[in-house]
Amino acid sequence: MKCALCGGELSCKQGIHHYTECGLDAVYLAGVDICTCPACDEVFASIPNVPDLHARIGEKLLKKKSLLNGPEIRFLRKNLGLSAKKFARYLSVDHATLSRWENDKQEPTGTHDRLIRLVYASIKGLSAGHTKYLIEEAFTTIRPRKGRMPKIRIPVDQWRRDKTNCAVA
Ligand SMILES: [Zn+2]
Repeated sequence: MKCALCGGELSCKQGIHHYTECGLDAVYLAGVDICTCPACDEVFASIPNVPDLHARIGEKLLKKKSLLNGPEIRFLRKNLGLSAKKFARYLSVDHATLSRWENDKQEPTGTHDRLIRLVYASIKGLSAGHTKYLIEEAFTTIRPRKGRMPKIRIPVDQWRRDKTNCAVA
């Protein structure tokens, strides 16, 4: 693989990448290529098939066992390709409320948390069986937020197919 900056040959090895580029603090990708350019001293993580990865992260957030935090709500909205205005309308809240949720200035109620997850699942076209599981199993164990978000570790085999969409620093 070539360096995006100078075109030089990269030296790559598999490793764990803390995927903060997605806006979340708790996502770690295991087994991705971490590449270094000897010429410009840049380090890149080569992340294959980002749309499938983001779908995978979304599914994990749907099953999260505590209330979603602001960046997670924003991640789900962006993954649906929705503006804040439109998403707020779907949730029947005003735009300022959604903004406070996304910026962790206000915590959504448990009811709104579940509604956010259901709207996401519906628009993503999750199967009826999956939605039933969410409502009957996953949603019954959601607790209030406390402490730090547990790490979400995603091995590359869970989403990689054959496409490489981007390489990020
Ligand atoms: Zn370079």
